[in-house]
Parts: sequence; structure tokens; C-alpha cells
Amino acid sequence: MSATFRIVATDRVSKQGLAPLREDERFSVIRFEDSSDPRFAQELEKAAGLIVRSATRVDAAILDRAPGLRVVGRAGVGVDNIDVAAASERGVAVMNAPGGNTISAAELTMALLLSVARRVAEADRTMREGKWERSRLQGVELRGKTLGVIGAGRIGWEVAERCRAFGMDVIVYDPYLPAHRVEDLRPHLVTLDQLIASADVVSLHVPLNAETKGLIDADALSRMKKGAFVLNASRGGVVDERALAQALSDGRIAGAGLDVYETEPLPPDSPLLTAPNLVLTPHLGASTKEAQVQVALEVARNIRAALALGDVSLAINAAEIARAAGLS
Ligand code: NAD
Repeated sequence: MSATFRIVATDRVSKQGLAPLREDERFSVIRFEDSSDPRFAQELEKAAGLIVRSATRVDAAILDRAPGLRVVGRAGVGVDNIDVAAASERGVAVMNAPGGNTISAAELTMALLLSVARRVAEADRTMREGKWERSRLQGVELRGKTLGVIGAGRIGWEVAERCRAFGMDVIVYDPYLPAHRVEDLRPHLVTLDQLIASADVVSLHVPLNAETKGLIDADALSRMKKGAFVLNASRGGVVDERALAQALSDGRIAGAGLDVYETEPLPPDSPLLTAPNLVLTPHLGASTKEAQVQVALEVARNIRAALALGDVSLAINAAEIARAAGLS
């Protein structure tokens, strides 16, 4: 039987993660390292499915070059590189893989926390400068400290569990939790003001939207405990970078760890680059072997269900697709 659905994958999507499609005779998969390959455009013309990571921009122009396209899969969470409205207009389902990198992002948050608390990055840097600064590089223990989780979804919750294993107390601010989660978390739930005033470590795990943009601004930083730490491995823009750099320079905030930025890559004139006690990583939250396989597996399974079974219920534009098809 010849394959019914042609899938084009690009941006070095994990080969292993594409197994659900490769092993199904209804699908043929062609994988590109990146979309600048001239054969990419040719293959796209015949494709029913397209899988990207973050490098390829799936805009109206690319969608127009793929008249048979029915589903775009993003092997990862954010769909900033996909024009979802343009896809919806053309009846193309957009699917992401929100759960595949949860553990990796949570573990990266722990790496930032431990590095900030024990000044690991700074210690490494100064040793390479020939220094041996044991007393200046004194840190703090996590045991007995309070972690304030802003956004107790998938990643926030995994971070909380790991911090509990370090003997930390956990408090949570999340006004949009489903009812069953509110029941579980009730003893830990606080208001944003309470969290800001009482957490030793404030860790952000929210989406970026109008409500969360600048959530941690100069005012919030000024109300934190003196000596608190701030962690952001969620989305750039949730923390006001200029205000954070100032609070670190003033010594109000004892340390911070960031994986995400208002502008990525971080511009060379960013005040963060000269702020003290700050650990920076270049958006590495999902950069593990395991996460890359998991996100590709998740999206491959979703694409298989969409094309072979017509199940687009997990598409982020499911409602628009149903409306366009006259189903709702
Ligand atoms: P999730 O949807 O499971 O959790 C987000 C939580 O934030 C939800 O519980 C939601 O109720 C809560 N929330 C929404 N608005 C809020 C607000 N105004 N105040 C407080 N809470 C609010 O998402 P997740 O998978 O846990 O991801 C969390 C963040 O991490 C997202 O921004 C995601 O894009 C990002 N992320 C980053 C990396 C990385 O590479 N650094 C990797 C994966 C995910």
C-alpha cells in the first residue's frame, strides 16, 4: 500500500520522535535539517502535514505554497513562529506539544536556583581567572526557605515538588487553576501580594500575555524580601529586565536566574549582562535529548490522529477549524 499522507519535518526535529509516523504505512516522512533546503519547498507542495521546531516561520506565504496541508505540528510549546490565524483561515490545524518538555524545563529551573544560591557560575568564572574566593562566594541553603511559585501548571508544579525534596516550603499564586487543582493546592494558595512579600525564591511559570507582561516590575521587586531570589524560565517579558538589573545592583534582590528574555538573542547592550549575581542561560529549558524526543513523539502522535482519524480536538485552533468546517 502506498502512503496516503506525506509529512515534511524540518528544523532537525528528533528522528526517534517521528517513529509513530515512520512506522505507520499510511504515512511517508521526509525530514530536513532546515527549511532553506531547496527540496523543502518542493516537498511542501505535496504535504498533508508539516512539523517544525522554532526556526521555520510558518506564515501565510509558506501556507500558500502547501495547498494540501491539513496540519502543522510544532515540536515544542510556543507557537510564536506559526501564524495561527492564517492557518485557521485555510482550515489548517495547528498542534503543539505542551507536555514534552515539562521535566526538562523544571530541571533547568532547579539548575538556575542551585547555581544562584551557591554562586556556582560565579565561582567557576573566578577560578578560571586564577582566584580562590571561598569566603566571598558564601551561599545560602535552600532548606527551610520558602519557594513562591507564580503559575502552578505543568512546570511550576514539578519545580515545587523538587524544591520540597530540598526541604523548602512552597506557596503558590495561580488564579486560573482548575477546581480539582485548587482543592489539592488550597493550603499553599496565596495572593500575589502575599507571595511577593513572603517568598525567599520567586519562580515564574506563566504564559506571556497582557496580564503577565511586566508582572515582576520595579514595584514588585521593591516589595520582595531583601535578599530574595528571582527565577524566570517561562517567557521573556514577564520580568522587567531593566528593573531586575537595577534591583540586583542595589542588592535588594540577592540573585536571579534567567533562561528567557524580552528580546532573544539577548542584545549586547542589555543591562542584564553587567548586573551582579545573575545567572543567564540562552533559552535552554527544553534543550535536552529527552525533551526533543518527547516533543516530537507528542506532535507525531497528534498529527497521526489528525490525519488518519480526523481528530483535531487537540489543535490549538480546534474551535476555528470546526467553525470553518461548519461543525459549530
Ligand atoms: P501550563 O499552561 O501548564 O501552566 C501555566 C500556569 O500559569 C497555569 O496553571 C495558569 O493557570 C497559570 N497562569 C496563567 N496566567 C497567570 C497569571 N496571570 N498569574 C498566575 N498564574 C497564571 O504551562 P507550562 O507548560 O507549565 O509552561 C509554563 C511556562 O514555561 C510557559 O510560558 C511556557 O511557554 C514556558 N516554557 C519555557 C521553556 C523554556 O525553554 N524555558 C520550556 C517549556 C515551557
